[in-house]
Order: sequence, then C-alpha cells, then structure tokens
Amino acid sequence: MAQAKSEEKVIGIPRAMSFYHNYPFYFGFFNDLGIKIILSDVTTKQTMTEGSGLVVTETCLPIKVYVGHILNLIEKGVHNIFVPSLQSISNKIYNCSKIRGLPDLVRNIIKDDINIIEATLDKSEKKQGLYEFLSEAVKPFGISDINIIKRASKAGWRCYNNFHVMSKSGIPYAKALSYALQGKVIIGSKTKEYPISVALVGHGYNIYDERVCMKIIDKLEKMDVEVCTSLQLSTEQLDEGIACLGNEKYWANEDEMTGCAGHYLKDNKVDGIITITAFGCGPDSLMVERITRKAKQFNKPLLNLTIDEQTGEAGFVTRVEAFVDMLFRKKRASIVNKLNIDENSVPYKPNVEFIETK
Ligand code: SF4
Repeated sequence: MAQAKSEEKVIGIPRAMSFYHNYPFYFGFFNDLGIKIILSDVTTKQTMTEGSGLVVTETCLPIKVYVGHILNLIEKGVHNIFVPSLQSISNKIYNCSKIRGLPDLVRNIIKDDINIIEATLDKSEKKQGLYEFLSEAVKPFGISDINIIKRASKAGWRCYNNFHVMSKSGIPYAKALSYALQGKVIIGSKTKEYPISVALVGHGYNIYDERVCMKIIDKLEKMDVEVCTSLQLSTEQLDEGIACLGNEKYWANEDEMTGCAGHYLKDNKVDGIITITAFGCGPDSLMVERITRKAKQFNKPLLNLTIDEQTGEAGFVTRVEAFVDMLFRKKRASIVNKLNIDENSVPYKPNVEFIETK
C-alpha cells in the first residue's frame, strides 16, 4: 500500500455503504485531526452504470454503487480513499462478506494509482477494536499518538450522537445530517398528522440514497403517508424488535431490518411495513423471510420491494401506490365499521397527484 503524502491530509470518502451509518462520526473525527474530507457526488445513473460495469452481474446493487463512487472520487483527483473493512461491529455480530471484503474487492478491480486506506474493525477479535481501526485510518497521514486519536474520536461521537438525537426526535435524515455537520442540535416536533403510517425497513444505503430508492420517502409523504424508520428507535426498542421476531442478533444490519420491522409490527399506530432489499442480498433474504412470517401472524400488511440497477421507477412506484391505496381502504373500512357511518363520509384517500413516473 502506497503511503499518503503527509502534507496532503485529504481523504476521499465514497457517499455509499457505511457513509449512511457512520459519516457523522467520520466527519467529526477527521475534521478534529485537520484531515480534509472530499465526498463523492450523490448517486446518479452514471454512478450505477459505471460501477456495474466493473463488477460481476450477481453482485448486489449497493456494492456496484459503491464502486461507482470510488470512480467518481478518482475523477475528482482524490488520491487517498477510505475503504474500511467493517468485519464485526460488536462481539459475534458480523457484516456480510461483501462489506467485510470491500478493500480487497476495490483493490482487485480498480487499476488506477490510488492509495486505499483500508482500516479494519473487528470487534469479535482482540486488538481490532475502534482505536486500532482509527489508528489504521490515520496512519498514512503520519498520526499515531493514541491520545490525539482518542480526542478526535470524542469529536466523532459528538457529531454522531447529535445526528441520532435529532433523528430520534423525528428530523428527516438529510436535515439531521446537515445540522449535525454544522454542529447544531435541533429537536423536531410533529407538524403534521398523517392518516396513514408506514415503517420503511432497509439498510441505510438502500433507503437514504435517493437515486437507489427512487425517493420513496418523499413519494410516500406526498401521498400523506408518515414514514417511520429504524433511526427513530432506541437501542432497547430495536433489541425488543429483534426478540419479537424470535431471533438473536447475528448480522450487523439486524437493527435496521429485523429490529425495525419487529418493533413496528407490534405498533398499532403503524398501518403497514415496506421492506427494500437489494437483489441477491443473502442476509436480507433470511431476515425478510422472518419478517414476512411474523407480519402474517400480526396480520400487518407488508410490501417487499427488491431493487437492482434494472429496476424501473414506473413499476416501483405503481407497487408502492397500490400498497398505499390498499392501506387507505383498510383504514376507511375499519372506521366505517367502528363508527357505523357511511363510507363516503370518511376522508382518507391517498394523494397520488405528486407521483412522478418519469
Ligand atoms: S448486506 Fe446485502 S446489500 Fe449489503 S452489501 Fe451485503 S449483500 Fe449487499
């Protein structure tokens, strides 16, 4: 691995994969050390096409998108690119093999002269915890003083915690991220009552990357549907959610999949669940199977959406629209039954005017 030139102190971070979980931490940490971050641009069709062109077809969409972001950073002239290997985030809690092997994958397919900064986090192994991970990340910049690294880590946690406090209060993902990066903490309050609520279950890189998920959150909100995600839940609620599905945590993404689904399945204020998974994702196929079985037991409507680079927006939106329409009908019927009133006097109808199918 080539060494970064110490005077550069610039690190490129792909706006993909762990970016959607860890960027507030990375931002606080690298900034505290005076290392300038260059992010890749937001995902576009070109990102997907170029990334897909370099990996085998069977690879899941998020990895293809990740490779596209690496290419974007190279185009921007970034030499040091952070490609962490996040093996295990807690004792015996693992990421999938693709996430664990990300640096190897990138090294094997990218032939440009770049410096891959490949720190490894493996909390199931001794001596491969957070500080070892962070030390590896900044070693190419000539930083090795553990006290300086620990101080920067605190700055990272501050930004990360602020992001989560705001998210839990209901501030949308992009706003909470933007405020956290500005060092602000703004607590949200509910400004609108929605007639219908849906839990959106999926990995951060699948539901917050607007190109990948085709702006599903915006689309649902414009249809008068409140969107609940794992970011609004506490660790205890997510653990209870996982337990509700009758399993122990094994995959690193369980919180945002089984934890989130398990919690909202029990929540009577949530009318339905939408899962978004990448085609070919092994962990998700196992977790969605458990979610589907439990949703039947709870009699909670469930829509499973699978995405890949071929997914057409029109078909995707039609399925979401049909699901929402069914939820509104169900809600109207339950009100009619409960209050014994005429169906036409119940106002709940999906607002589909804003749906763009281009
Ligand atoms: S968890 Fe699934 S979607 Fe994510 S990188 Fe692994 S295989 Fe792909």
